[in-house]
Formats: sequence, C-alpha cells, structure tokens
Amino acid sequence: MTIRTRIAPSPTGDPHLGTAYIALFNLAFARQQGGEFILRIEDTDQERSTPESEAAILESLRWLGLDWDEGPDVGGPHGPYRQSERGDIYKDYAQQLVRDGHAFYCFATPEELDELRRHQTENKLPIGYDGRGLTLSAEEVQTRLASGEAHVIRMKVPREGTCKFNDMLRGEIEIDWAQVDMQVLLKNDGMPTYHLANVVDDHLMGITHVLRGEEWINSAPKHQLLYAYFGWDMPLLCHLPLLRNPDKSKLSKRKNPTSILYYQRMGYLAEAMLNYLGRMGWSMPDEREKFDRQEMFDNFDIQRVSLGGPIFDQEKLSWLNGLWLREDLSDMAFMQRMQEWAVNTDYLAPIVPLIKPRVEKFSDVLPLAGFFLSGMPEISAEDLANAKVDSDQLRKTLQFTLWQLEGLRHWEKDAIFDVCKTMAQCMELKPKDLFGLLFVAITGSANSVSVFDAMVILGPDMSRARLRHALTVMGGPSKKEAKRWDKEYRTL
Ligand code: GLU
Repeated sequence: MTIRTRIAPSPTGDPHLGTAYIALFNLAFARQQGGEFILRIEDTDQERSTPESEAAILESLRWLGLDWDEGPDVGGPHGPYRQSERGDIYKDYAQQLVRDGHAFYCFATPEELDELRRHQTENKLPIGYDGRGLTLSAEEVQTRLASGEAHVIRMKVPREGTCKFNDMLRGEIEIDWAQVDMQVLLKNDGMPTYHLANVVDDHLMGITHVLRGEEWINSAPKHQLLYAYFGWDMPLLCHLPLLRNPDKSKLSKRKNPTSILYYQRMGYLAEAMLNYLGRMGWSMPDEREKFDRQEMFDNFDIQRVSLGGPIFDQEKLSWLNGLWLREDLSDMAFMQRMQEWAVNTDYLAPIVPLIKPRVEKFSDVLPLAGFFLSGMPEISAEDLANAKVDSDQLRKTLQFTLWQLEGLRHWEKDAIFDVCKTMAQCMELKPKDLFGLLFVAITGSANSVSVFDAMVILGPDMSRARLRHALTVMGGPSKKEAKRWDKEYRTL
C-alpha cells in the first residue's frame, strides 16, 4: 500500500506557520516511506475563502520547499483538488446518507436555533442541536422540500455511549457521544461543511494517514461515524501538538507573527525555517539541531514526536538561521540569496516612485528607504510620544487600530487608510495625531515616504509587527489594561 498524506488548508487568511509545520510532518512521514503527499484546498466556506489567500498559501509552502505530488496547481489523478470545484460529489454523498437512514433533513431556521440555544443556556442544559428534524414524518419532509423551504442535512449521532478511536501518538481516545453534535453536513446553499467534504475527499483521494493539529481531536468521532456510515476504512489519525508562544499560550498573531510571509520578509532562509519547524516536537535520533529536509525525511519517525506543546521562539529561529547563513552560504551565494530576498526589481519597483521625488543622489536613498529592507525600526517611547495627546489615549488607539488591521481582509491602501482614519475618529483623536505615530512606528523616522504606501509594500505582517513593536516600546497594555481594552474594543 502506498502511504498517502495530505495538507488541507482553508484559504481564509495569511499562510500560517502551523500549516507549514503540519505540512512538513505529513511530507516527512510520506517521504520516509516512499509515499505521496497531496495538497487540497478546503474552500467550502465561500464567504471567508479568497483566491489571494490560496495563492499566498501555495507560494509560501513552495518557498519552504514543501513540494506536493498532487494539488490544484499541479493536477493529479484524484482532482479537482479544490473543494469548491467538487460540489456535486458531496451532495450525492449527503443524499446517500439520507437514503440509508444515517442523515436527515432539518428545516430549523437560524431564529429557531438561537431560541433553542437561549433556552439551553438559561436552563443550564447542554448546548447543542436537539434532534428536532428527526421527528418529522417522511411525507412532511417531502412536502417541505417540494415547497422549496430552506433546509440543511445533518448526520445522525448516537446520544448514548462512548466513541473510541485510535490516535497514532495518543493511543485510544474516548469521547462521549452526548458531547458530539448532530453536525450539519450539507448547508442550505448546497455546500458541504468541513466534516463531510474532508471525509469524502480523504477517502476518494486515497489518503492513508491524516496528520493534523490537535484542535481537530473533537471532530474525530464525527469523522469515524461518517466512515462507518459509508462503509469505508478510516485513515489512521495522528493529532500533532499545537505550536505555542514562548509563554506557552497557543501561537496567535496577537502575540507573535504567525504568517510565513512575515518570516520571508524578515529575511529568514527557507532551509532554516524548515529546519526549525522540523524541531517542533520532533528531534533527530542524534539530537542534532541543524539538519536539512532530506536528512529529516531519512530519519523521520512519528513516534519521536513529543506531545508537550512545541514552542516557536523567534530568537531560537534567528540563531539557527545565523548558522545556516554562515555555514552554508559562500559569499557569492549570500549575495545571490539577498538579491532573491529583496534586492531585486520586483521588490524595489513600487518603492522607486515613492523615493525618487525626495532624493538628489543615490546616497540619499538608503537613509530614506532603508526601512523597507530592515526588521523592527529602532525607536524609543519619545519618538512615538505626542505632546498634544494623552499617552494612554494614544496607546489605546494604536492597539485598537492594530486589532482592526488584523481583521482587514484586503491589504490595500484605501482600506488601510480608512481603518486608521475611522479609528482615530472613534477615539476622538485628530487623524494626523494617529498618522504621525504610525509614521514613526512603520518607517522609524518622522520624515519619510507616505506611511500608507509603505504599509502596502511592507505587507500586512511586517506592518502589524511594527505596530505591535511600537506598542511594546510605548509600554504596551498591562495585563489589566489589555482585558479592559479588549472589552471596550468589542463595544466600538
Ligand atoms: N481545512 C482544515 C484546516 O484548515 C483541515 C483540517 C484537517 O486536516 O482535517 O486546517
């Protein structure tokens, strides 16, 4: 049997470090045994999925050298590899489950379900679907379907007993069926939910092993049940530990840049990134810290994965990257890699029109535009202060702006400008007072090119990292403040 693994990202945001880490382990597991690795795009959530995100995910995974044998861009015998192009397949399978008595139509409206939830919360009852669709007679279902009433298809789930399933690292896991919701499989718009699409595709694509993040453990009972309903063998499951911040909290962009694009822009080498991701919960048999992709594949053993949450520490990554730079690159290679990184026409082209009107000679360029090629600017609290505005107010506004920018879907100049202007107004600041602060935070000086153009070129991750850095330089929010601000922000 050929081992087949996959990575199945949802293109709803920036390419996440966690995706690269899980992809690497799937790839290493497959390659170590001469198997195949597939990339599938899970874009059934049409409201949140974007082609930009998909393109960025593919590009980042490629940059890291995580090559897939089949995928939406390279094709393969089990395509299409984008779930949005497989709609009819899921519909047929959902209907098959209904016919076989494993799933049912449900006509409950969102208002009815809200009401149910309110009732359950008020009466301290377990939250979840109450099986009301199961009480409808076959005739009633037919009549309501025929009249075009909005509906979903849900899976039947036992209400009693315990689900047991095996995890390659954790052994047997037990979850009570009572905790498992009668999951929607097919939505009213005819699109499948993650659970149905994931199971159907893993089966049709011949996936033998599913290595994924531990946040999916609670989904395993639904998946196991679906495999049983269809009469298919379930792939072996392996839930890998989640990456963590140095303070052990779950890696999140509120604390740490999580987008692979940030690390690329910072000038880390792909080999070093991959090496470091390979050390997340796994180690070489001889414990050596520096190893390349092939060495990892040759030595990979899933049983060496330790379940303690692996810490993603930028300082450690930088140290390792330094080793790679010094030990593996000749001076010539160093120059070439720097060119590939950012000293090239692709990166410099949009910068030139911004700086040309402001310089008289080339030697003026770097002092003005060096921040496009650097990491965090060297700034102090004084550089960021504004004599006319209360510093707490300024800090809070910066934090709120940062949160707003974290949610911005399309990183475009007008949209960024609107967010910043609106935030300033919301916080009763003059826009120019906020813009002045952003200017220093992003460019590192009080006199440079337009800050909004600069943010577009630097990209969302580097821009947000600099705003986060500025906030830290200003003293950041204290723990108490962070909680208070968070509440206040939600009411805006
Ligand atoms: N689309 C899911 C994700 O975004 C895939 C989870 C899985 O591997 O089953 O992570």
